Amino acid sequence: MPSPQPTPHEKMMFQLNLRQRGISDQAVLKAMEDVPRELFVTSAERAYAYRDTALGIACGQTISQPFVVAYMTEQLDLHPEHRVLEVGTGSGYQAAILSKLAREVVSLERFRTLADRARLVLAELGCSNVDVVLGDGFDVPETLGTFDRIMVTAAMEEIPDALLARLEPGGVLIAPVGPMDDTQMLTRVVRNGDAFDRQELMAVRFVPALQGVAREL
Ligand code: SAH
Repeated sequence: MPSPQPTPHEKMMFQLNLRQRGISDQAVLKAMEDVPRELFVTSAERAYAYRDTALGIACGQTISQPFVVAYMTEQLDLHPEHRVLEVGTGSGYQAAILSKLAREVVSLERFRTLADRARLVLAELGCSNVDVVLGDGFDVPETLGTFDRIMVTAAMEEIPDALLARLEPGGVLIAPVGPMDDTQMLTRVVRNGDAFDRQELMAVRFVPALQGVAREL
């Protein structure tokens, strides 16, 4: 039987791995230490919660690899006053990490099942500054406003202009960009006035971003 609780050794190795792979932002490392990843994975995979791998969740989706979560978070350069949009709530793990580092997090998910579950876990953890919204990252409701930071956690063939338009001046967006059946390039975009400066960070592999709210649960 998988052990229900992570051991101190597992948690130590988890932190050590993030540091060895180059994560150095202390606030990001602290957030990764404070959020219990075991609550976001399926009970069958709880024993693997502190391994540095992506794991399957409901609706055929995945919770990202911890290193990638930490890296994307670090590259987002968050400040405590920021309002952040996440596209692709999935398990809610990344949203919980963001919630420790920003003022407000809006997280969009196209599967109702995932959105409902993530809301429950985030509430249990007291992440009261996260709003999980059932919706489509290709068509972000106007009422949600604009954001200082945007993180997309599903692969997009191109970053839609409509999403870039939701960035505040000086804002940063990070997204895996590329084909859905291959690796993608993690891309960081900084808004400078009306210009969008792009930088390619590293190859990653994410589940695809799909248009529209899912018709199945
Ligand atoms: N950040 C998540 C993992 C994301 S997996 C975590 O920490 O667990 C990618 C998620 O993006 C999936 O749950 C998928 O359903 C969702 N998704 C895909 N396309 C989307 C879209 N257009 N709008 C909102 N969510 C989307």
